[in-house]
Amino acid sequence: MRKLAAGNWKMNGTGASLSEVVALLSDHPAPACDMLLCPPATLIARMADLAKGSALKVGGQDCHANSSGAHTGDLSAAMLADAGASHVILGHSERRTDHKETDAEVLAKAQAAQVAGLVAIVCLGETEAQRDAGETLDVIGRQLVGSVPEQSTAENLVLAYEPVWAIGTGRTPTLAEIAEVHAFLRARLVARIGTQADGVRLLYGGSVKPSNAAEIFAVPHVDGALVGGASLKAADFGAIVAAL
Ligand code: 13P
Repeated sequence: MRKLAAGNWKMNGTGASLSEVVALLSDHPAPACDMLLCPPATLIARMADLAKGSALKVGGQDCHANSSGAHTGDLSAAMLADAGASHVILGHSERRTDHKETDAEVLAKAQAAQVAGLVAIVCLGETEAQRDAGETLDVIGRQLVGSVPEQSTAENLVLAYEPVWAIGTGRTPTLAEIAEVHAFLRARLVARIGTQADGVRLLYGGSVKPSNAAEIFAVPHVDGALVGGASLKAADFGAIVAAL
């Protein structure tokens, strides 16, 4: 399976940041993996224009479950697609925390995204307290069943395992811990969506950087990364792309 290097710019970036995309594309015109950047919604259309004809795809960071209507400030999946997005990140832990998103809401958004022709990147992960309490697999299993649409296919679903305590902290699970979770995710996904699960890319996210990317990517069932801070600079993200 072709691996995926995905970057989540979160609430970072203005027009000036697009120079990083220009640099990335010129440094990596034919990468050995798929590349995706998810900038703030304000930059999707401009980034998609820059990425036209290149190996880079562009995604959103959230969408509404409805296709249109009276939802001030929200964006539908069809609007993201219209702006040039091919993917959308859903259920990121920052949205589960900041906006109290539930598994059921993430499920509805993922269904809407897939109907609109987008790839849904569904995020899951345990908090530090849950890991310490030995609840990691229970939590992740529950999130998977609660937020992954049963009709998902290898083409319209990506799963991202992002331990909440590893995001933006510089800390990562051990390789054995990542391996345990990713093997569990694959098995749970087979139970939920059947044989299509074998082709779904399982990303690891949380403090991925150039210095640890290669060893993380060598872990079985790690099919790429969802990168936050290190996706903002072409040099760092390019080094991660090269490690895949
Ligand atoms: P960092 O790579 O900055 O830890 O963020 C990970 C993340 O949340 C990606 O969605």
